[in-house]
Amino acid sequence: MKLVMLGAPGAGKGSQAITLSEKLNIPHISTGDIFRANIKEGTPLGVKAKEFIDKGELVPDELVTDLVVDRVGKDDCKNGYILDGFPRTIPQARDLKKALEDKAMKIDFAINLLVDDDVIVGRMGGRRACLNCGATYHIVNMPPKKEGICDHCGERLVLRDDDKPETVKNRLTVYHEKTQPLIDFYKEEGCLVDIDGTKAPDEVFKDITRAIGV
Ligand code: AMP
Repeated sequence: MKLVMLGAPGAGKGSQAITLSEKLNIPHISTGDIFRANIKEGTPLGVKAKEFIDKGELVPDELVTDLVVDRVGKDDCKNGYILDGFPRTIPQARDLKKALEDKAMKIDFAINLLVDDDVIVGRMGGRRACLNCGATYHIVNMPPKKEGICDHCGERLVLRDDDKPETVKNRLTVYHEKTQPLIDFYKEEGCLVDIDGTKAPDEVFKDITRAIGV
């Protein structure tokens, strides 16, 4: 099954994608995580991407799409994958569609997590992330078992630079301008699933699995 997670930054895409990936046994591919790993390692891609990420802007399409198309062509993606944070623009969605069509494939579901902006702003300040495995938590709504430590890999949790309030505002503006149009794109493709993302994470997970029949 090939899934795309849609929704504003902080809507819960990453957390739901990790749980879905464990349930379906297919890879979770987060472009944000790929960029952060490259930044950590100081690769040329990381250096270029950091300029945009730190300002809350999108990394240019040409630095993203080929990377994802390559990734989904790998062996471990044979049974499907979950794209989290990609596509984020109409050109990215069109290029992905074309690359899949060339192999007679398509996205099965685009899961759209609906959360209002004011809820997002409240969530992001309390968000803590693991820069090692990409898991995210919330100090109140979804705390890790041990304070400040990742449940999945034991690394220390941090407030990401791009989760700081001034950057979050910019990310939301960019989301409405560039990414929200994807909702109509996938509606027209006939694979959009709207999910109320304001419920508790396990309720959201149940709603998703029910909606996609797994
Ligand atoms: P995320 O962890 O998905 O919120 O991504 C963090 C940041 O990485 C975003 O704010 C963007 O700057 C960048 N990024 C991630 N995915 C993409 C994408 N598909 N297109 C452009 N920029 C991206």
